[in-house]
Amino acid sequence: SLSDRLHDVFKQLRGHGRLTEENIQEALREVRMALLEADVNFKVAKEFVATVAEKAIGQEVVGSLAPGQQVVKVVHDQLVELLGGQTATLDLSGRQPVVIMMVGLQGSGKTTTSGKLAKMLQGKGRKPYLVPADVYRPAAIEQLTILGQSLGVGVHPSATDQDPVAICRQAVHAAQSGGYDTLIIDTAGRLHVDQELMAELGRIKDAVQPAEILFVADAMTGQDAVTVAEKFNLDLAISGVILTKMDGDARGGAALSIKKVTQRPIKFVGMGEGLDALEPFHPDRVASRILGMGDVLTLIEKAEAVVDKDKAEKLAKKLKKEGFSLEDFLEQIQQIKKMGSLEQIMGMIPGMSRLKQLKDMPKPDEKELGRVEAIINSMTIKERRNHAILNANRRTRIAKGSGTTVQDVNKVIKSYTDMLKMMKQMSGKPGGLGAFVGGA
Ligand code: GDP
Ligand code: MG
Repeated sequence: SLSDRLHDVFKQLRGHGRLTEENIQEALREVRMALLEADVNFKVAKEFVATVAEKAIGQEVVGSLAPGQQVVKVVHDQLVELLGGQTATLDLSGRQPVVIMMVGLQGSGKTTTSGKLAKMLQGKGRKPYLVPADVYRPAAIEQLTILGQSLGVGVHPSATDQDPVAICRQAVHAAQSGGYDTLIIDTAGRLHVDQELMAELGRIKDAVQPAEILFVADAMTGQDAVTVAEKFNLDLAISGVILTKMDGDARGGAALSIKKVTQRPIKFVGMGEGLDALEPFHPDRVASRILGMGDVLTLIEKAEAVVDKDKAEKLAKKLKKEGFSLEDFLEQIQQIKKMGSLEQIMGMIPGMSRLKQLKDMPKPDEKELGRVEAIINSMTIKERRNHAILNANRRTRIAKGSGTTVQDVNKVIKSYTDMLKMMKQMSGKPGGLGAFVGGA
């Protein structure tokens, strides 16, 4: 990850004076590579790096962060700022029925996201009305109608032989008489931007005066995102962006490029095909994703706040010498309980989230963590230091002692040995296990 690479670049500099132009050059090359790998547009990446250089050069190297981490922090903060700082919301305060118009290329996720928005608004006590305005693909009207039916939301009875502008006008009246307060217009898309489509969208806009025109963009779109977003914004003056398919392995570079060229807030992200999979856009999370570093800064902050540093250093040393015992496992669980959920912590460790095993690992909840504690507490010191001796008799005794079942005990031993395996794979990598125990 980027933080690993920067760690190497700055190894020599640890604890010395200021970040200088020279020692920062190499780091910035890495930053630019990371941005390009994340599919950030070339021009956007170049400009971004120049801004970071300006901000980073001359900064004091602060004690608790390694210089590499410090550059990562400058980069991260700058990314967050560019991505919009705060989480944006919809402005639906206007005269009712309020109109939301969904625009974007074909396949970007307009229809799905219309359904998701309807569900979200419904949950907030609003009465949304779905309006299919894509008359070019017969299946498009049906797709939205089915979504609406599954949600119990009203859907305008559009027909393919109608003019989209007329449909939208009629839909406003239908919403008024039907007691709906919010229209969500699902417009047609094309595979590429074309003038005929833009003209039609412009006419719809003029006819219904939307409070929000949301440009729906596929996060997997790479460089193309820039020109497409620019064109839609130029012709329609969009009010915000929804980035779909962020559940895939897109690195989020499109977010930065689109935000940069449109200067419009990214309001939501689509995290799956289901109607629940719509989340507010969190600039800091996407910044971390672009940098491929997990929520490493959050982790550093949390670790610094909670983990007893001496203990962590001792543990790191001990891990190198003696390996990781069930006693250490117990101590980690107690730390984790202080820091947040296990899953949360795992997600913050660079590299961890990309490990396939993580998906197969049991995901204990807080209650389960308590059970794990009880089980390990019921083991003898000898057992804790050598799990290999935990035979059936001992497991039964431990289950009784901890008020759990043998299956519970087996599960704990299994997650411990899974973790052991994972640690073997990660050991030695900076930002890996080291970060976990606060010794990075
Ligand atoms: P439209 O042509 O813009 O209306 O796009 P659709 O809403 O029909 O979506 C195109 C495809 O993308 C469909 O298969 C959707 O299920 C899928 N899709 C939309 N949003 C998401 C998302 O956030 N995550 C994933 N994984 N798939 C999505
Ligand atoms: Mg559609």
